[in-house]
Amino acid sequence: YTSKKIKNSAHIFANEMQEGFLKNITMEQELRKAIKNNELFMVYQPQVDTQGNVFGVEALVRWNSTAFGKLVPPDQFIPLAEATGLMPKLGRLIFETACYDIAALEQELKRSLQISLNVSVRQFMDPLFLEDLLNILDKTDLHTLNITLEVTENLFIEELHYIVPLLEKIKSLGIQISMDDFGTGYSSLSMLRQLPIDELKIDKSFVYTIDKDETSAKMVQNIITIGKNLNMHILAEGVETQEQKELLTAFGCDRFQGYYFSKPLNKEALLAFLKSSAFYM
Ligand code: C2E
Ligand code: MG
Ligand code: MG
Ligand code: MG
Repeated sequence: YTSKKIKNSAHIFANEMQEGFLKNITMEQELRKAIKNNELFMVYQPQVDTQGNVFGVEALVRWNSTAFGKLVPPDQFIPLAEATGLMPKLGRLIFETACYDIAALEQELKRSLQISLNVSVRQFMDPLFLEDLLNILDKTDLHTLNITLEVTENLFIEELHYIVPLLEKIKSLGIQISMDDFGTGYSSLSMLRQLPIDELKIDKSFVYTIDKDETSAKMVQNIITIGKNLNMHILAEGVETQEQKELLTAFGCDRFQGYYFSKPLNKEALLAFLKSSAFYM
């Protein structure tokens, strides 16, 4: 009986694995088509300072899939693009679209905005990464000073002798570096000290519990203290309530992003949002 049960569950497991496998193959094919058929688009989430002024936006990719009949979340297809070698190409498309969108918006508003771009590991490790980015900035007439690259701690599992000098080169060109989802990945405080990082982004999982759980609040407080001692900006992501915003401000956080201020917006909605609110040069 037991062995039969094990066999059965092994069988079910194999089926499930195969289903997952087939699902991924289908999704990979669909993603390739989606890139060609323009099913991907960008949304932009405002980032605000302590005065409530919008100083920048984070560019976030969306996939409105006709094949799946719904929006597929980036948490699903970015890892797939990473695993299947599609990422450098998809990453380039994302950067290009975001830069064109924001350049057009800046022209219309006669102001400049900081653009935060998420960089995946495989995209960053691509030998043409920096060259491609600089070409896009050139084409769109955007300044390096207005670009922030959001990297995650997972990047630092890769060859440090390649990553650190490249980050330094990027920084020397005026591009800002932000450490995304800080506190959730492979991290080392001593590494933080050696890296040319301008901004720490506190992950929304900490922000979410800050007003509910004292340990969480203490951790956030300490992260902020460390970051500020290293002369970094501290941006809290996933701020949803006024209480969270006030606590974070009291702890010394100087930048905010989250539904409390605005959800991610398509470019038309972002333009309307910015026209109706004060923001910086
Ligand atoms: P992330 O870079 O940490 O982005 C923040 C995520 O939090 C976004 O989810 C955003 O929509 C969501 N968010 C913002 N404010 C709030 C809030 O107040 N409450 C809650 N619950 N969520 C909030 P999204 O757009 O689904 O993206 C998920 C992840 O997918 C991103 O996390 C990033 O790792 C990846 N991703 C998204 N767009 C890109 C992209 O263009 N390139 C790359 N490489 N990765 C991307
Ligand atoms: Mg991000
Ligand atoms: Mg984040
Ligand atoms: Mg995150």
